[in-house]
Amino acid sequence: MNCDILSTLYVKSNGEILCNDDFGERVSLGSCRQSADDPDIHQTLNNDRYQNIREALKNDRTPWPEVCENCSFFRPDEPYSNDLLQKRIIQKIQIEASLACALKCPECSNLIQIKTRSGGRHFTPEMMADLLGDLKENHYQIRSIEYCGQGEPLNNPRFPELLATARKIYPDTLQRVITNGNHDFAKTINSEYVEETVVAIDGAFQESYEKYRVKGSITKAFKFLNDAIACQKPKGGIVVWKYVLFETNDSERELLEAQRLGDEFGVTRLWFVHSHTGNRSKKYTYDNPHTIPIQYSNVKIDSHPSYFRHAITIIPDEFPHKITGNDSIKCMIAVDRVVIHENGSINISGWANSQTKLSHVTLEIEDQKVGDLAFVVRRPDAGELYPVFSEVLCGFDSLLPPSAVSIKPGQGMNFHLCSDQDRVATFALAPQVKVIVPSQVPNRISGDNSVVCLMHIDQVLIYKNGSIRVSGWANSQAKLSHVTLEIEDQKVGDLTFTMRRPIINELHPVFTEVLCGFDALLPPSAVSIKPGQVMNFHLCNNQDRVATFTLDLN
Ligand code: SF4
Repeated sequence: MNCDILSTLYVKSNGEILCNDDFGERVSLGSCRQSADDPDIHQTLNNDRYQNIREALKNDRTPWPEVCENCSFFRPDEPYSNDLLQKRIIQKIQIEASLACALKCPECSNLIQIKTRSGGRHFTPEMMADLLGDLKENHYQIRSIEYCGQGEPLNNPRFPELLATARKIYPDTLQRVITNGNHDFAKTINSEYVEETVVAIDGAFQESYEKYRVKGSITKAFKFLNDAIACQKPKGGIVVWKYVLFETNDSERELLEAQRLGDEFGVTRLWFVHSHTGNRSKKYTYDNPHTIPIQYSNVKIDSHPSYFRHAITIIPDEFPHKITGNDSIKCMIAVDRVVIHENGSINISGWANSQTKLSHVTLEIEDQKVGDLAFVVRRPDAGELYPVFSEVLCGFDSLLPPSAVSIKPGQGMNFHLCSDQDRVATFALAPQVKVIVPSQVPNRISGDNSVVCLMHIDQVLIYKNGSIRVSGWANSQAKLSHVTLEIEDQKVGDLTFTMRRPIINELHPVFTEVLCGFDALLPPSAVSIKPGQVMNFHLCNNQDRVATFTLDLN
């Protein structure tokens, strides 16, 4: 049993931490610190309520009976994973920047919450600094900060300060703003960089738009969308038009007009989203996602999280993320997530890049084609990590229709990286090898408060005969001699530095050592590696262990 609350933190405008942004809003898990005597966030994440969630999910019990069953984030079929306390990786902090909103959307709980919730209506930069500062001190990684809740984030008069505070404390964390766009861009975002701006505009015409977005102006929302495109896209930001499908905005004419406008404006993506409310579109539903008339490749079909309850998510740890093409061209692929929906359609997101121009990726299972993945998402992170690639539009995030070929966990998938004429390279999941992909684990650690250490595992291959191949790099301000790998406190072997990795020094000038890469084949060990176990990588100098990096095999 699983739930993403153990990798997500949902913080209300008044500082309360609740059990996610749905039915679980009835359950309080703690609060941001009001005074120095209050528990800090690390203590909160280990309080009795969080322990109850962990123990219940591990033992296939619902943490909050009669609540979880109604919650969009409940995943009864998925194995337990994502323990935030153990891994110290927060996939998302969702901040309700403001509970105020000028619009009156009929299905929104905003008015009830304003009447029933006590405390502040706007989350303050001071609360943000305290929360993030605590997380930083406790060595948490934060993958994204999302501004969204039961109010409109940009109604917070100090919104640019929230963005700036987060940027200062966690400079590399992705920030995502979800807004109704009925705002002046210059006043609400100012010059702050936002990696992802999602503007919810449910319609292409004012008459249908205002049937749900009551009191909203589509002209204002379009202006905001265009300003966001002009300001954020040149900096590498993504700007998404999110269009929830209702009975009142699902005519073919309107869906085609939205696509035409999206193309004219230059949105990164246009999402059509299936709603779960009473006024949802009955024509275009979760059960027939591919009947929407689509004319542009940047359109994405998505569904409210409640539809994902019985989906199977294949964890990307099972995919190698690195391949080389025909001896001369470097190619790489990273699969972030594969979701096999109950209705047979398949969501696949990730990126692929090559030194030669790619046109798409073709997915085959057991030699039968499942579909093509188009490059519709800008992934500047791929180029930053691997400067050998110059193409930024290398991300895919596709919903493939139900296929004659069913995908099951453990089956062999072939991803063919294609140019217009040819297959440039193929990435296959070798069934006899268990592959652990590093993107899912922390790749950054600090030593004993004074020595900066970083580590990155490119990949771990566990062969059927028990030998283990580990490649990656480790560097430190202190001289390192080797890395020792232990599993469950038993030594498996030493990784010696045999490869020059000058790019690491360019990326992190704090380090001077260039010979910091390893690519070692460790012999079969008395310690076998199984999912659920923990690998410890100890960064050592001749006398001592300088720091330890933990990789959880869940
Ligand atoms: S399923 Fe239960 S534990 Fe998970 S977010 Fe919802 S209420 Fe919380």
